[in-house]
Amino acid sequence: MHQMTIAQLAQGLREKAFSSTELTQHYLERIARLDPSYNSYISITEERALAEAKAADARLAAGEAPTLCGVPIAHKDIFCTDGVKTSCGSKMLDNFVPPYDATVVSNFKAAGAVSLGKTNMDEFAMGSTNESSFYGAVKNPWDTARVPGGSSGGSAAAVAALLAPGATATDTGGSIRQPASLCGVSGLKPTYGRVSRWGMIAFASSLDQGGPIARTAEDCAILLQAMASFDAKDSTCMDAPIDDYRAGLGQSLDGLRIGVPKEYFGEGLNQRVAELIQAALKQYEQLGATIKEITLPHNELAVPAYYVIAPAECSANLSRFDGVRYGHRCDAPKDLMDLYKRSRSEGFGEEVKRRILVGTYALSAGYYDAYYSKAQKVRRLIKQDFVNAFDEVDVIMGPTATAPAFKLGAMGKDPVAMYLEDIYTTATNLAGLPGMSIPCGFVDGLPVGLQLTGNYWREGQLLNIAHQYQLATDFHSQIAPALD
Ligand code: GLN
Repeated sequence: MHQMTIAQLAQGLREKAFSSTELTQHYLERIARLDPSYNSYISITEERALAEAKAADARLAAGEAPTLCGVPIAHKDIFCTDGVKTSCGSKMLDNFVPPYDATVVSNFKAAGAVSLGKTNMDEFAMGSTNESSFYGAVKNPWDTARVPGGSSGGSAAAVAALLAPGATATDTGGSIRQPASLCGVSGLKPTYGRVSRWGMIAFASSLDQGGPIARTAEDCAILLQAMASFDAKDSTCMDAPIDDYRAGLGQSLDGLRIGVPKEYFGEGLNQRVAELIQAALKQYEQLGATIKEITLPHNELAVPAYYVIAPAECSANLSRFDGVRYGHRCDAPKDLMDLYKRSRSEGFGEEVKRRILVGTYALSAGYYDAYYSKAQKVRRLIKQDFVNAFDEVDVIMGPTATAPAFKLGAMGKDPVAMYLEDIYTTATNLAGLPGMSIPCGFVDGLPVGLQLTGNYWREGQLLNIAHQYQLATDFHSQIAPALD
């Protein structure tokens, strides 16, 4: 059963080939047996999962159940779950049990999906390797000596290791697409405002967006259908019609105009990754698309602008963790200042502290204009590059990451080297556009992802473009050798 996609599982449940209880038990058994090798879960909610499966079975028996009814999934541990620890990968929230569900979580509950547990992640979603988690690094299922990518590395690894058929994730600067690329699975970051951020622990509010990770584009379509909703509780959530994503998957790519930014193929890109991207573009030509070289002249400024704006917003968002209201509190504080200082220095890890310091500096009165305000202007230019490009093309393609998964510990103590890994992904978030990563081949047995960036609110079109490629190729159905 674990080899099946969500689409197949949904059908199997409907045809009574197996029950949700059997399916859920099967996944729970696999997680207990295999996850010690990957560390992709922080919490496994066995009892709840079985209760939800039982309720789903009753709904399925009564007929009229939604597509996802009875399908097990996992939630990134950044989404608040009523009564279930939500740590955000941090010691700060190791004791935090939310009294409510994030909108995304309630949407999945309403759809009848079963939650297996909460997936591991970089602390407060800051990172590209998953090594900053308080709960230890996640291992890449294709090679456990390598990183799964981050920050949604737990979600990507769980799907790649067939420990969940799909999972929720979030993307602030690439955290859905980059781990999807490194783990050989499909991931979609929707347009900013498509998915509610309510109850999703904030890192950088103007960039954060939730989305799905699954093995296929079709499964991402099914998951996005449940995730996307207008939510009056999130003032940045867009009240726009939501397409029927799965129904839109049958469309021909004849005449599709693909833009390939020349800036994506510069120095720093692994040559064999570049060749796989070129091969994928050839495949798209065979499917009827035309390829056009385009330019995104400000792309090289995306990483510097992102690493001012994201830390600035994080420094404001994380000020709420003060040891007073919830989360970690130090022992026996002398006074209020001591409580703040020790709670925060004990509760946050190194990378989070680095970002808070950078962000506080960039927002301080003397440096605001030099850094924060400048970065916002650069952000506008980056967005304009995309607006210009979408006058000429329908979708932009290129690599998701510079190279396949690197070794655990390879980024060592060099945060800037890690930041530079985000060169192809951060611009999408700065512009608020939808983006996807889908498997497009292997380098030395390690998966490589093709990145697709679409115009605003065109996630339906992106999913179809990805789906057509997956109908013609089988990279997405490969499974890590250890799992055969
Ligand atoms: N790697 C980026 C960062 O560390 C992106 C993280 C994310 O998208 N959450 O900020």
